[in-house]
Amino acid sequence: MDLERRVEEFKRKARALGLKVTPQRLAVYKAIAQRHDHPSAEELFEELKDKIEGISLTTVYRTLSSLESVGLVQRVPTLKDKVRYDARVEPHSHFVCLKCGKIYDLDTIPKVNRKEVESVGEPVSCTAICYGICKECKGEEV
Ligand SMILES: [Zn+2]
Ligand SMILES: [Zn+2]
Repeated sequence: MDLERRVEEFKRKARALGLKVTPQRLAVYKAIAQRHDHPSAEELFEELKDKIEGISLTTVYRTLSSLESVGLVQRVPTLKDKVRYDARVEPHSHFVCLKCGKIYDLDTIPKVNRKEVESVGEPVSCTAICYGICKECKGEEV
């Protein structure tokens, strides 16, 4: 999906959910949607601090958690302690590079043992995280 369509989707969904589309929320969302590296709040703040007047790291944190609470962005679980965000909320999997920490999107949806999953509860979505060394880092090693 291209950025413009994503942003339109975002506005539509936010309104439907009763979340005001403020310039700050829009800016934070756009910044995540534009990048494909699953940024942390700190990285987003670095990018936005010169563009949005009066924005602080706290504002970014707050904005992210309000977007997350209505499902407009999601957290990506990683090995590192920093929370990373994703504007792509439909089920998909991730490749986490152990060297550079980049997170890549994968379209793969893992096959799970449904019986086993259902013995625990009703699944909403199942995704996978692959850990490894990305091509970029491998290339650098040669
Ligand atoms: Zn890497
Ligand atoms: Zn992703």
